[in-house]
Amino acid sequence: MIYPIVKFGEPVLEKPSATVTQFDDDLRKLIDDMFESMYAARGVGLAAPQIGISKRIAVVDVTFKENPDAKLVLINPEIISKEGRQRGSEGCLSIPEFREDVSRAKVVTVRAQDVTGKVFEHTGEDLLARAFLHETDHLNGKLYISHISALKRDLIKRKIKKLVKAGEW
Ligand SMILES: [Zn+2]
Repeated sequence: MIYPIVKFGEPVLEKPSATVTQFDDDLRKLIDDMFESMYAARGVGLAAPQIGISKRIAVVDVTFKENPDAKLVLINPEIISKEGRQRGSEGCLSIPEFREDVSRAKVVTVRAQDVTGKVFEHTGEDLLARAFLHETDHLNGKLYISHISALKRDLIKRKIKKLVKAGEW
C-alpha cells in the first residue's frame, strides 16, 4: 500500500516518535509499505512520521532500486559516531520543491534493530551518512531546515505559508 506523504506543518513531523517494541507481521507489512511509498515518491529515505505514523522506523535506499543490498531498515536507530564534514544539497519528501545546502558529518555509524529485532551497526559515507542523520532526525521530530540559517528557514516557511493559503500545499 502506498501512503501519502505528510507535509511540513503536520505536528507528527515535529514530535519524537515512539520506540518500537513489537517485531511482528504488522511491522513487516508496514516496512514493505514504507519502501513502496518511498519509491513512489522518488525518495532515497523515508521515516514513519512522514506517513503519519509516530514510530521509530526508517527505510533507506540511496541507490534507488539499483542494488537490493542497499535497502536498509532502521528500527529504533541511534547515531553512535560521526566523523568529518560534508556540505551538500539536501531535500525532504515532506518539504517538496525546496532544497538547501546542509553541513553534515561525512562518515556516520548508526546502531539500530532490523525487522526481527536484532541489533546491528552500519557505517555509511557521503550520501548514506547524510541519510542516516536526516532519517534519525525525523524520528526525533527534527527536520533538515533546523540545520540551515534562521534567515533561509524563515524564507522557506513564508513560501510554504503562501502555498498553504493558495491551497497548493
Ligand atoms: Zn525528510
